[in-house]
Amino acid sequence: MMKHAKGELVARPPSPLAGGYCSARCARESHRAPNKVFYVNTAPAKVGAGGTALPTDQRRRLLWQMGFFILFIVAPVFDLFRYDLTRNHAIVLGMEWRLGLDALFAGGISGTEAAINILLRLLLPIIGGAALFIAIAWRWGRLYCGWLCPHFSVVETINRLMRRACGKHSIWDRKAEPAKNPDGTPFSINRWWWLPTLLLAVAFAFCWAVALLTYLLPPAEVYGNLWNLAPTRNQAIFIGAATTVLSLEFIFARHLFCRYGCAVGLFQSLAWMSNRGAMVIGFQRPRAAECATCHAPDGPGYAACEGVCPMRLRPRQAKAAMFACTQCGQCIAACATVQRDRADGTLLSWIEQEAARQNEATVSLTGRRD
Ligand code: SF4
Ligand code: SF4
Repeated sequence: MMKHAKGELVARPPSPLAGGYCSARCARESHRAPNKVFYVNTAPAKVGAGGTALPTDQRRRLLWQMGFFILFIVAPVFDLFRYDLTRNHAIVLGMEWRLGLDALFAGGISGTEAAINILLRLLLPIIGGAALFIAIAWRWGRLYCGWLCPHFSVVETINRLMRRACGKHSIWDRKAEPAKNPDGTPFSINRWWWLPTLLLAVAFAFCWAVALLTYLLPPAEVYGNLWNLAPTRNQAIFIGAATTVLSLEFIFARHLFCRYGCAVGLFQSLAWMSNRGAMVIGFQRPRAAECATCHAPDGPGYAACEGVCPMRLRPRQAKAAMFACTQCGQCIAACATVQRDRADGTLLSWIEQEAARQNEATVSLTGRRD
């Protein structure tokens, strides 16, 4: 096994274990994974409701999430992107973004020129942006969801608080897990945590409602009116209704929305599922017996990879059952923590290309797929 510093993301040479197929002693070249396999050395680190220290890749992901959340809030303020209903045109990177229809109706340009304007200023940017977005998802999965999406940041934050309040990530979880982190350390469950959980859910909802309004109306007007506690009637209705709906969604259905209700997530998942060589969580099936570590007396007492998954998935399953995986990597980090004392480390890792295909083939052979 390749040695590397703790907390580093490193690429190892192809290994028969990489894709979870064959055995460590097998030397047949055809059984080796010829493509990149990424291991994340995260041990020893706490991950979960009571965890404090995050592994390097999870810290990096948190920074990306925080950065994108701030961008989501300030993009309209700095005219990076918004549609101004009072002026009836979009603003992109500080520039007015018009389709030229006003000039067409005023007789200033011909129908052909207007059609070219629509093609160049509307259709091509949308189609190009969507194609790039889908291509990334096809290759690497729902990276946008797990690393950037401001909604998923809320999902993870409320999940953690709710687990401290009732032992479950979601009120729809069938049963509470033992109140232990993946490294086996205990944390306390206290119903008083419901207070910050609910307050933060409503605060996030209000924040989202105001931010969404600034994508449609001049941010200076929206924030100015709020500062003076004098929003217009329509602004108050919009903010009140959006805050209510989003609060309910954040409290009751946040990860369900990501799984079943979000079109952005759905199209990423469809693109990802269509590529059998796409990056995916790989499980080293020949080492499956080592999963007993999770249930040892000094372990977490539950399958840590499943316990930390914000989408409530079972990461050891085949890709077909992982449609909603957001590539957040928390399951890998949790497993690396559980297996921190073993030389071979985590049983879960990112795999792609041939290793991903072989991993799926193994699942087929065991009758759990196809
Ligand atoms: S894959 Fe890792 S975290 Fe999941 S049950 Fe097995 S040992 Fe535990
Ligand atoms: S399966 Fe792993 S990578 Fe996918 S959403 Fe769950 S924790 Fe994140």
